[in-house]
Amino acid sequence: MSLSENTLKQIKKAAFLMKPDRHARGGDAEFEMLFITPQRIIEVNIPVKMDDGKLKIFKGFRVQHNNTMGPYKGGIRYHQDVDMEEVKALAFWMTIKCSVMGLDLGGAKGGIVVNPKELSKGEVEKLTRAYVRLIANDIGPTFDIPAPDVNTNPEIMSLIYDEYSKIAGKDSPGVVTGKPVDNHGSKGRDIATAQGGVFVLHELVQEQKMVTAETRVVIQGFGNAGGVVAKLLAAEGYKIVGASDSQGGIICNYGIDSESLLQCKVEKKTVKECGLHVTELHGLSGASCKKVSNEELLEQECDILVLAALENQITVKNAPKIKAKFILELANGPTSPDADDILKERGVVVIPDILANAGGVTVSYFEMLQNAAGVSWSLEEVFEKLKEKMITAFKEVQQMAEKYKCTLREAAYIRAISRIEAGLKAKSLL
Ligand code: NAD
Repeated sequence: MSLSENTLKQIKKAAFLMKPDRHARGGDAEFEMLFITPQRIIEVNIPVKMDDGKLKIFKGFRVQHNNTMGPYKGGIRYHQDVDMEEVKALAFWMTIKCSVMGLDLGGAKGGIVVNPKELSKGEVEKLTRAYVRLIANDIGPTFDIPAPDVNTNPEIMSLIYDEYSKIAGKDSPGVVTGKPVDNHGSKGRDIATAQGGVFVLHELVQEQKMVTAETRVVIQGFGNAGGVVAKLLAAEGYKIVGASDSQGGIICNYGIDSESLLQCKVEKKTVKECGLHVTELHGLSGASCKKVSNEELLEQECDILVLAALENQITVKNAPKIKAKFILELANGPTSPDADDILKERGVVVIPDILANAGGVTVSYFEMLQNAAGVSWSLEEVFEKLKEKMITAFKEVQQMAEKYKCTLREAAYIRAISRIEAGLKAKSLL
């Protein structure tokens, strides 16, 4: 099931829980019209003179889903498989995520159909600048603020800032977030996703009065988000017992030193080759760690399973075998809606993606606030404010879950929808 089908199913579930009467009257069609249809869709053809002198046209998109709660906000991805349907689903996802977090932002997403690895640095720059020239009238610091996404980075955000400023005729750092820290970016943006997830998870663990040193964590996807989460959880005293990447995983019941694993992954490229290395550092025999397949890793004995790889990892097939008490979804859409029902029945608590990985967009919002005020916050200040936002959203989601006797995911959708509904009513659109 695709990300958009999953999201639609989840939204419908939440809408039904909120207003069963409206559902019975067939009012969900209206509801879908209001919440799912994007407000604006921009499609551009971007001409680029390539290094060999030939002209190439690239297809680009920007979908502005909904700005009821504030300016449109969402990343721009460069990928050969980008298509309009995907960009629409991701823009919708941003509206929901910003609303769950209580941010004064709407949702958007952009993309260019390109494999940037096949382009030179100069070609990527020309492509980025040409894209900005085509959408310059549709973005702006108080209207639509892009950010990095798949295959785009702080350097590309600097190019957007520069090109837009030239067109606007004034310095406009607020047109984009995720800029380098020395070019009006926010401190902490690079690890904000993982940090936000850890704040919420730690709050839940403390509520349950669990002892961190005895709390066993398995991390699927030891990449950017998963690697940082391992470091942060280890710093809080958690016991990391398993990790994986696309090539497979390792389980080390005595615990994994996350720094050694990060270092080993750089050297050996794959997590599964690191068991022995991590063991040696602990002065233990190689047998203390075992290699496991990606499927086996998810089904290991542990207290917390962090999903930081891909979508659709927990399905009806493996949901009955999950042994973790809590799941933290740093990846987008890692649990299918049917698997969610099984986890609910089995009492596995899922901290849903739209809350768990919203630390990134929250710090992007902080970057906008800093740019607008012409100030730069310290890292401590950024994380103090991030913690406050994450915990407030989490507590409100928990309250909704109690009120509607539903999962945290359903409650997060209910919170997001309720805020947007109230916003539409305030604008007399409902
Ligand atoms: P990444 O590419 O750095 O890391 C992904 C990791 O998952 C890689 O190590 C890869 O080898 C591994 N992987 C792939 N398939 C796997 C499988 N079947 N089993 C186990 N591991 C597998 O990406 P990232 O930036 O860390 O993002 C991870 C997820 O988090 C994505 O879904 C992304 O959309 C989401 N996310 C990331 C951020 C962020 O700021 N990095 C923000 C929001 C959401």
